[in-house]
Amino acid sequence: MADISRIAVVGASLAGLRAVQTLRSEGFAGDITLIGEEAHRPYNRPPLSKSVLRGDDDVTLPGAEEIGGEWLRNRRAVRLRLDGAGSAGGGAGAAAAGAGGGSVTLDDGAEIPFDGLVIATGARPRRLAERPGGVHELRTIDDALALRADLAGHRNLVIVGGGFIGGEIASTARALGLTVTLIDAGPYPMHRVLGTDSARWLAAHHRKNGVELISGVRVAGFEGGGRVTGVRLEGGRSIPADLVVAGMGIVPNVEWLEGSGLALDDGVVCTPSLFAEGTSTIVAAGDVARWRHELYGGALVRVEHWANANGQGAVAARNLLAGPESAVPYADVPSFGTHAHGARIQAAGLPHLADEARTVHGAPEEDSFAVAFLRSGVLVGAVGVNAPKELNRLKRGIAAGDVLEVAAS
Ligand SMILES: Cc1cc2nc3c(=O)[nH]c(=O)nc-3n(C[C@H](O)[C@H](O)[C@H](O)COP(=O)(O)OP(=O)(O)OC[C@H]3O[C@@H](n4cnc5c(N)ncnc54)[C@H](O)[C@@H]3O)c2cc1C
Repeated sequence: MADISRIAVVGASLAGLRAVQTLRSEGFAGDITLIGEEAHRPYNRPPLSKSVLRGDDDVTLPGAEEIGGEWLRNRRAVRLRLDGAGSAGGGAGAAAAGAGGGSVTLDDGAEIPFDGLVIATGARPRRLAERPGGVHELRTIDDALALRADLAGHRNLVIVGGGFIGGEIASTARALGLTVTLIDAGPYPMHRVLGTDSARWLAAHHRKNGVELISGVRVAGFEGGGRVTGVRLEGGRSIPADLVVAGMGIVPNVEWLEGSGLALDDGVVCTPSLFAEGTSTIVAAGDVARWRHELYGGALVRVEHWANANGQGAVAARNLLAGPESAVPYADVPSFGTHAHGARIQAAGLPHLADEARTVHGAPEEDSFAVAFLRSGVLVGAVGVNAPKELNRLKRGIAAGDVLEVAAS
């Protein structure tokens, strides 16, 4: 067990909360300081694009009541200093500091010393620089309440980006009776995540449910002075809008770590057991962590889904207490689920790594099917549409690195 008596957890959302709960349930009796930029108690984000937009405000994250008095809310970490690290960054600095502790500087200048650190600062939406009123992003409960208020007063919604959040908002807004246009740069929405057949099915499903879909084109900017009146596409076409949601992906919140010596590359670069590379007392978890996934030959993977943040928060905390020698790798199969106009879409593994896709159950025309994704014959990913049992079977196959099961079905 590592010699740690003060732990700082930065980021008070799902991964951070799970880390705190696990530290205590594993018997850690030292000081824990949980630092969070948001004013709210930790809450669940998945309902923000679903039930919250329909009027249900219950986003309670179970366990949030257990945090107690060690929680600094409304406070942002702006800098990380590692004991023993030189003034310049670089992996060697982190390695020198990795055995010891350091401190986190907050936006009010306070210094929080630690000998163990959990980084759980998640991610934020990519933003377009030029944004008139009526252009929304969706990441926080405040974003969701602002969008809900605007949905009630406007008719003509344009969604920029057809990822799962964009798709869920499209679905919710159609159910509320709005006119919805979904603009996506790919050939079909979610093409990279779902593969061609499932993404083509999703495009047709959006259209069948009254969504105007514009694919294969990028947005150049917005029109309107005080309030948005339209979305300008590259090539000059303009789409009328009185309300816009921009869902163009997210970027990990790592700016506060710059210059600390930690390796940063689209997230905090971590070992298979979630230690920041070159350190033995700093772990990362959730949307901000980019770790070497043992199931995929040590490829660096960053996953932006609930189950990942939930699982990693716990494993990272346990590993921090155990120390790198006794730590276990986090090698769960990435997975997520979403709903679009009543259909249940689930994905597991990393379909984009595949060189072959096989429909192993049902058919797109039946609105119920599952696709297995293989790389050199090995199962690496799966997508299911209204096929939860099949998806679970494939997910087990991915974890086992199995291909025979699929071939036999
Ligand atoms: C609208 C929406 C719908 C979603 N739906 C689904 C779904 O259906 N299924 C699914 O699997 N996933 C879904 N997700 C994704 C899922 O919610 C995330 O993967 C999960 O929230 C990640 O948790 P996290 O703790 O790693 O990061 P976050 O939830 O992003 O939390 C990070 C926290 O750190 C704080 N923070 C950031 N920087 C600092 C700093 N410098 N100092 C202090 N605090 C800081 C942030 O304010 C935030 O509170 C959805 C996400 C959104 C936004």
